[in-house]
Amino acid sequence: HEIKNPLTAIKTFAEFLPERHDDPKFRTEFAAIVSKEVDRISRIVQSLSDFAKPVLLKLETLELQQVLRETLTMLSNDCLKRHVTIQQQLESTTILLPADPGQLKQVFLNLCVNALDAMPQGGTLTASCQLEGQEAVIRITDTGTGIAPEHLPHLFDPFFSTKDTGMGLGLSVVKQIVEQHLGTIQVESEPGQGSTFTIH
Ligand code: ADP
Repeated sequence: HEIKNPLTAIKTFAEFLPERHDDPKFRTEFAAIVSKEVDRISRIVQSLSDFAKPVLLKLETLELQQVLRETLTMLSNDCLKRHVTIQQQLESTTILLPADPGQLKQVFLNLCVNALDAMPQGGTLTASCQLEGQEAVIRITDTGTGIAPEHLPHLFDPFFSTKDTGMGLGLSVVKQIVEQHLGTIQVESEPGQGSTFTIH
């Protein structure tokens, strides 16, 4: 349906073209709408192809805190605009682990963007990483809408989304990348209070 709607708009305009191509208003509208709808399809196809591509990990020894800090910096403007305060609780001992820097950043970014989406009135985004025994544990917590209990089992399914314009691929990509790094991800949520995604 995400692809069919823009295609229908383009087809409708194309059907009017033979009889209305001398109408400048129609031409301007045609150019604007077709270009916008093509961009939309293009974005959807890109997300689908990213999702379908097997993830080829390029492992490096990374400092976990550094990757988290970089992700939060990327989001700092968005947070300001949305009245979201960022809290960092980062282990003081440097955590080194073998991981793909681009993929790991993608994981943190997807989780943080979802957290922001869940706080339309503002709130607090907390990113923490701790060493628990031999494991690195990362938690992304928001003070947003929370998740309805009946949605929890479907959260990581491809194309599950409760957002008007959501593709529902963000969390399935997250899970795919985490599992390729031999990690696990869990979610806890309290409707009306917020959610925490925990990666081991
Ligand atoms: P999308 O963001 O395109 O909807 P995702 O796979 O990233 O796709 O998320 C799937 C669904 O999980 C979202 O539509 C939303 O309902 C729910 N969700 C994910 N993260 C959160 C969060 N932090 N708070 C509330 N709901 C969330």
